[in-house]
Amino acid sequence: MINEMNALVKAHAREGLWLQTAAVPEVGPDDVLIRINKTGICGTDIHIWNWDEWAQKTVPVPLITGHEFAGEIVELGHNVEGLTLGQRCSGEGHLIGKQSRQSRAGKFHLDPETRGIGVNEQGAFAEYLRLPAFNVVPLPDEISDDIGAILDPLGNAVHTTLSFDLLGEDVLITGAGPIGIMAAAVARHAGARNVVITDINQDRLDLATKVADVTPVNVTRTDLADIQAQLKITQGFDVGLEMSGNQIALDQMIEAMVMGGRIALLGIPPGKSPVDWSRIVFKAITLKGIYGREIFETWYKMIAMLQNGLDVSGIITHRFGVKDYEKGFAAMKSGHSGKVVLDWRTA
Ligand code: NAD
Ligand code: ZN
Repeated sequence: MINEMNALVKAHAREGLWLQTAAVPEVGPDDVLIRINKTGICGTDIHIWNWDEWAQKTVPVPLITGHEFAGEIVELGHNVEGLTLGQRCSGEGHLIGKQSRQSRAGKFHLDPETRGIGVNEQGAFAEYLRLPAFNVVPLPDEISDDIGAILDPLGNAVHTTLSFDLLGEDVLITGAGPIGIMAAAVARHAGARNVVITDINQDRLDLATKVADVTPVNVTRTDLADIQAQLKITQGFDVGLEMSGNQIALDQMIEAMVMGGRIALLGIPPGKSPVDWSRIVFKAITLKGIYGREIFETWYKMIAMLQNGLDVSGIITHRFGVKDYEKGFAAMKSGHSGKVVLDWRTA
């Protein structure tokens, strides 16, 4: 076995990421070693690249970044059962503890000890990744490595979207980033009546209409209330999926909801923001915060939907060999991309 690999490393406490050689991780008895084929660049990776305040207080240096991946198993720890060498897989990047009340109740996604690969622990932007076998999600043949590499953010979209019953409901999504757009496709697949998606970036809204059957609203030009009237959403949206992290979008969503409406919040606001709580109280709105994916129910549902007509392939707008990673990050930072996928077989 070779012992050196290429990896994208946060090697210095300043802006940027560096393609360097690193030691191939050693697997423990309960781990597998995964040969990475494709990875997705996430907004989180942009924060780490930019070395903003959050990254500075969260990410140790040096660290191999990245948490969205697809690859194949090349080594099995000696306790590992049920997985095979050569098996294609993706995996859950949240490493959980097994001691908390939540974990012991089987609510793994609510474990307070959760640590993220590529954020707190060595990540997937590398030729090889060590992962606990528990976290591995095998990929069926019909799911490509490209889609395998974006199952983490698709999982965020699925977890948020399936939080509330959508069948026949009018759904408002604020924020047509990659996750908002994939959520729109999932909401359609799950039987929503109308799916309206808002953004302030027209490119993103154009992409949304290519990926999913949605009504796009550029809130800088169009009044959301006019679109509601056109669609005969007379009393407001039944379900809201907040996917922008923007205060104005959240205010607009609360305003546009029906009495008793339900809102799932995935977007992460940059800091504290003022909320009109009385509006939420008098509208009897339910709010649910969403973190990560349900382990592993979200993965099960997501793969089942992908095998039964859910198509999010159009969300991948850029593909680069890993040597061109700077172009990939530039595309992400431009705000004009969907998902950007890096190919590690060219490393
Ligand atoms: P993104 O930044 O690519 O997309 C956000 C979109 O919101 C952008 O297209 C932006 O133009 C749009 N926006 C900004 N202001 C708006 C407004 N006033 N009205 C409507 N849209 C507006 O992000 P993404 O990768 O798609 O992720 C979506 C959100 O989810 C981000 O806030 C991200 O930090 C968060 N996130 C949360 C989790 C979690 O576990 N909770 C996981 C992943 C991502
Ligand atoms: Zn991600």
